[in-house]
Amino acid sequence: MATEIQKNFKEKNAQYASQFTQGHLALPPAKKYLIVTCMDARIDPSAAFGVDLGDAHIIRNAGASARDALRSVLVSQLLLGTREVLLVKHTGCGMLTFSNADARSLLAQSRGAAALDAVRDLDFLPFGDLDDAVREDVRFLKEGELADRGIAVTGWVYDVQTGGVRQVV
Ligand SMILES: [Zn+2]
Repeated sequence: MATEIQKNFKEKNAQYASQFTQGHLALPPAKKYLIVTCMDARIDPSAAFGVDLGDAHIIRNAGASARDALRSVLVSQLLLGTREVLLVKHTGCGMLTFSNADARSLLAQSRGAAALDAVRDLDFLPFGDLDDAVREDVRFLKEGELADRGIAVTGWVYDVQTGGVRQVV
């Protein structure tokens, strides 16, 4: 039995596919940039940041973490030619609300000690100050040992209440 979520998924996709005309797009992003942003359900990156289909890579994870996104960022830059990064964290982010110790304790409670053992070195990458976290991630992408100095990197905060962005760095 399909869940309501699965039914919606399938029905909406059938509607989408029936009107789809963009099958000719090339693999590399046409505008050669990437956005790292949070997985937060309140952010619609394509609409909020003017990204048309085929233009850019959008990498999403909990907290818009540059470190967590690193594998995808490198694939984007080295294999698919992107030359600019916009890192966008946001107000009200869940990653401001817990510590690594909190996450570990939740994991142990819900999945057991073996689960906790399996991810002993995992950093959940929470942060305490939004602007500092943006600056730190931009520094990591711009000046870290894996950085390409020729790639432009800027850092932003998206306000989930107004829909506006503010540049931090
Ligand atoms: Zn978030």
